[in-house]
Amino acid sequence: MGRYDGRVALITGAARGIGFGIAERLAAEGASIAVLDLDETAAAEAASRLELQGDARAIGVGGNVAKAADVDAAVERVVAELGGLHVLVNNAGITRDNLLFKMTEEDWDLVMDVHLKGAFLMCKAAQKVFVEQKYGKILNLSSISALGNRGQANYSAAKMGIQAFTRTLALELGPFGVNVNAVGPGFTVTEMTDATAARLKLDVDEFRRLNAEHNPVRRVGYPEDIAAAAAFLCSDEASYITGQTLYVDGGGTLGSA
Ligand code: NAP
Repeated sequence: MGRYDGRVALITGAARGIGFGIAERLAAEGASIAVLDLDETAAAEAASRLELQGDARAIGVGGNVAKAADVDAAVERVVAELGGLHVLVNNAGITRDNLLFKMTEEDWDLVMDVHLKGAFLMCKAAQKVFVEQKYGKILNLSSISALGNRGQANYSAAKMGIQAFTRTLALELGPFGVNVNAVGPGFTVTEMTDATAARLKLDVDEFRRLNAEHNPVRRVGYPEDIAAAAAFLCSDEASYITGQTLYVDGGGTLGSA
């Protein structure tokens, strides 16, 4: 018997990386999964790789979280095909890093659109289902970059915005049986951090080693680390926790050790 038996979870940006890690973990605990990603083929392929329990099912849904029509259609499709919706993980994300003087208006808008508008649109669509059934779990992906990170004025602002958004939705939706929390990953091995290494002209392994070296637990994070926290925060065991951001960063936000 899994913690997520009979539950349906929709995870955005889940064709790979942290989102896929969360999908794998929730599936292993019994959930049916909707993998939402920009590319429907990649989403369907990721869904087909999940190891499902009992009569749980998984589907891939194509869509852009920053487009209201895509989001509304995605939520409708998930409810129709998987029979409901209980957990929403707002994980889709992009980076467009640059120092302020080189950052373009497009870099700013794109990052705000995917992270903030995307989470807003997804929550707005899902809350209709959640409020009606008086049950729902929302998990938003923040980041340690919310505390400030050179070259990420757009991303840091969006990720701190996600924390304020999380607190506000927790206040609004708590009376309707909906918990809203966030996780703030530290350096996590995915294509996103590999792309950062490439941008900094560093070898991927060297970049990971450097990040591990200054972390209190002397290692980098993996999608499974974030997924373990997500699986707790979206479970009924965490029903008295709402509006919180849990940093999952090996203690990196405590300072370098
Ligand atoms: P990733 O490997 O780059 O995966 C992100 C996924 O999101 C990709 O499949 C991407 O699709 C999808 N996506 C991007 N824009 C989208 C949109 N508008 N609509 C739907 N899907 C979209 O990234 P990750 O490292 O797993 O990051 C996942 C989340 O964790 C992000 O919110 C990120 O900011 C956050 N985070 C990551 C780290 C880290 O160290 N990795 C640390 C802190 C926070 P395409 O491939 O088609 O672009």
